[in-house]
Amino acid sequence: MVTRMSSLFLRTLREDPSDAELPGHKLLVRAGYVRRAAPGVYTWLPLGLRVLRKVETIVREEMEAIGGQELSFPALLPKEPYEATNRWTEYGDNLFRLVDRKDADMLLGPTHEEMFCLAVKDMYTSYKDLPLTLFQIQTKYRDEARPRAGVLRGREFIMKDSYSFDIDDTGLQKAYDAHRDAYIKIFDRLGFEYVIVHADSGAMGGSASEEFLAVSPNGEDTFVRDASGYAANVEAVEVPQAAPVEVTAGPAHVEDTPDTPTIETLVAALNADHPRTDGREWSASDTLKNVIVTLVHPADEEHDEPWREPLAIGVPGDREVDAKRLEAQVAPAEVEAFEEKDFASHPSLAKGYIGPGVLGSENTSGIRYLLDPSIAEGSAWVTGADEHGKHVIDLVHGRDFTADGTIQAAEIREGDPSPTGDGTLTLARGVEMGHIFQLGTKYAEALGLKVLDENGKLVTVTMGSYGIGVTRAVGVVAEDNHDEAGLVWPRTLAPFDVHVVAAGKSDEIFTTAADLSARLEAKGVSVLYDDRAGKVSPGVKFKDAELIGVPTILVVGKGLAEGVVEIKDRRSGDRREVPVAEAVDAVTAEVASP
Ligand code: ATP
Ligand code: MG
Repeated sequence: MVTRMSSLFLRTLREDPSDAELPGHKLLVRAGYVRRAAPGVYTWLPLGLRVLRKVETIVREEMEAIGGQELSFPALLPKEPYEATNRWTEYGDNLFRLVDRKDADMLLGPTHEEMFCLAVKDMYTSYKDLPLTLFQIQTKYRDEARPRAGVLRGREFIMKDSYSFDIDDTGLQKAYDAHRDAYIKIFDRLGFEYVIVHADSGAMGGSASEEFLAVSPNGEDTFVRDASGYAANVEAVEVPQAAPVEVTAGPAHVEDTPDTPTIETLVAALNADHPRTDGREWSASDTLKNVIVTLVHPADEEHDEPWREPLAIGVPGDREVDAKRLEAQVAPAEVEAFEEKDFASHPSLAKGYIGPGVLGSENTSGIRYLLDPSIAEGSAWVTGADEHGKHVIDLVHGRDFTADGTIQAAEIREGDPSPTGDGTLTLARGVEMGHIFQLGTKYAEALGLKVLDENGKLVTVTMGSYGIGVTRAVGVVAEDNHDEAGLVWPRTLAPFDVHVVAAGKSDEIFTTAADLSARLEAKGVSVLYDDRAGKVSPGVKFKDAELIGVPTILVVGKGLAEGVVEIKDRRSGDRREVPVAEAVDAVTAEVASP
């Protein structure tokens, strides 16, 4: 059926919506693909839904090609399974919680590991039932702290989530590799530039977790890469432990450095009052900055309530602590500021002048102290002397102070040495589009998913979990494919194959355009036909066609008097005239080309 603009449920907007930040998202709203219902919650209008369905189809086809079986879990879920895995607590404010009329706690599912695990537990008992891969394309809910960027970060969004179930690590690795290959096919078909990055620092080993990031300057995630092809999330970069160096510094000495609570003021004071003897100037990288944060750990076996722990992090003074890297290291604990009142309850801490002297669990403050791994044993530092207005010079790591361990939390910079040893790192931004993750037995253990093995012994099943942001994919494609005038869809995702515009007033124009539309549809080409009559001028129709962004536009207008129509390529702007009699074949051929 030809879709006619005169009856399509659509109102394009000339003005940018006030609540949209990103250009692609503004266009999705203006062109009538989505509408905001609440912060981070979107309605998919007919045009948008067509694009969304195309993404879903690509994802579904590739998941089925690796043997995935589709099912659908509810979004409204009972609390108990999430309590068993502690995620009822760990998810914190991100979880949408509700209470039913019988006072039972429920939630809107943020992701479904628990439910899949329990379903398999209910139905399967033997190793013969495995391997198994199940998936759904389903609505998820997360009460994101910063719903922004339109459908890129929603509070309600569609995710494809799949889960693999295997008897052993070999099986899990196979399922993981199959998903990885399927994801490559999916993202190639979706047509955006992406990188596959190591997602976390590999506490579970090797390639246990990777993310597919769409490369995008507006992305929220920063990733690094080097010339060898290594790519990683900033959170996953492992700065190598610096090798010990020979101690060359003399004994440590405490000096008066009044009014130097910041690194800049300290460096200036050092150069003015305590110049180095080797002729070089002091710089921020000679200083050791000790940052204190508060970790809020979730309740656990020993604590009924979430509990707070101060943590001190020592980094070279020319670097900040990177919030995302720190969060990744301490999860599931959350990071909060160490506030005035916290200083008040730790009198040994001299704010602005905190040094290793009072840090470390052996020491007076009792605060755990972790160092950046770039701080070599034997290296000398200027750092706080734990007294207001005083710093200590030539404090040597390993000789004069030690810490409780190291932490990968300092910011990563363009030009830092690559952990592969191969050149330096460059930084770029991306949007996480997919995540593949070897869960192992964590969920199966918590929920008791066991099957009998060949010898009749009960073994815990090992799982993988794999997500793709389906609604997010539409957002990413929109951000990547637009110009001043509107969206410019790739053929694979465009809501229609061709946009036919009847540009003029005569009956002949309308009957010809309608006839061409019908014949194109009959050939399997999907048509959006702008049949609006009356006051809608050709100019308005062209503007709407550009805004909506169907890659091929067929204009039936003035040329018809000479027996020609015009085919426009929305992407290149190229236009050519073809005889009316050849229009259907010409458009069909064009639509079939990439
Ligand atoms: P992010 O780091 O962007 O918050 P995540 O790591 O929490 O994402 P996962 O739990 O791995 O996300 O979810 C799988 C996929 O679902 C992600 O790769 C992403 O494509 C998509 N996704 C996650 N959160 C959202 C959201 N708020 N809106 C839209 N898509 C999302
Ligand atoms: Mg993720």
